[in-house]
Amino acid sequence: MTQHFIVIGNPIAHSKSPQIHQVFADQIGLDIRYQRQYCPNDAASFTAVVEAFFGGGGIGANVTVPFKQVAYDLCQERGALSEHASVAGAVNTLLVKDGVLYGDNTDGQGLVNHIVSLGWPLKNARVALIGAGGAARGVVLPLIQAGIGALTIANRTLSKADTLVAELSAASNEINQHSITTCATADLTGDFDLIINATSIGLTDATLPLADNLQAQHAYDMMYGRPLPFLQHFKERGAQASDGYGMLIGQAALSFKRWTGQAIDVTQATQALQQANLTTNK
Ligand code: NDP
Repeated sequence: MTQHFIVIGNPIAHSKSPQIHQVFADQIGLDIRYQRQYCPNDAASFTAVVEAFFGGGGIGANVTVPFKQVAYDLCQERGALSEHASVAGAVNTLLVKDGVLYGDNTDGQGLVNHIVSLGWPLKNARVALIGAGGAARGVVLPLIQAGIGALTIANRTLSKADTLVAELSAASNEINQHSITTCATADLTGDFDLIINATSIGLTDATLPLADNLQAQHAYDMMYGRPLPFLQHFKERGAQASDGYGMLIGQAALSFKRWTGQAIDVTQATQALQQANLTTNK
């Protein structure tokens, strides 16, 4: 029997999730239908979409911009949350578990899994995270659980980085006990094992103000699908670099596993997606 999945967002036409999940399903021979679901930008409409989908026998839903926080509120009010969703204050994966709506957040673990697959060391790594929005919020706990050392969070608006650390520390003992410092992005200096760009600057033509004496062995940008000056900057200084396409596939694979119980060979799926995109773009 065909299993039904959706990704809920606004806008949603650009979402690559249907293609990614179809590749996963093909890999394990599962019959699925995964569709993009547009939703008006208000909480009542989101709740109606979720109720109609799961009431109609849907198996799992992804949640994307701008509904991750709304999905969190809904699960907190009526259902249950995973630790990662609870600490992030955001949900990107919905399912019905033990009869109630259950929200998880696989974004941060998707990033960690991709970094591990690149062979970049995380144990005791000195990490700089630039950004203090939703994406940054979701990756702090998974990075700490992966064993990183000291963490510096830099942001254009320093007060937002401070608020983020205060809120995350209140939500999680593991975060509270970790060494985290904050600074303005322009004041970020020193030598890091890993630097991560979790800002949305890649959507614009602007560039981050990076200090001359800021060094990193590995540079990761959560953006993908366009030239990224942040990565170019660190590549020119000898760093290994990666965009966020692997994070996108990684978070999707974790959602797929929550829904179906099946682990995906992410390397093989990535190759299949690259091949399909090459063919489509010809
Ligand atoms: P938010 O809008 O919540 O946060 C935006 C962040 O970017 C803030 O820290 C903001 O700083 C900073 N910023 C925006 N413009 C500038 C600028 N011109 N100069 C300096 N800093 C700037 O966005 P999200 O956290 O949700 O998303 C961030 C990025 O992560 C997006 O590009 C998104 O595509 C990507 N992402 C990728 C995923 C993947 O799977 N690969 C998953 C999730 C997100 P300030 O606080 O000062 O405004």
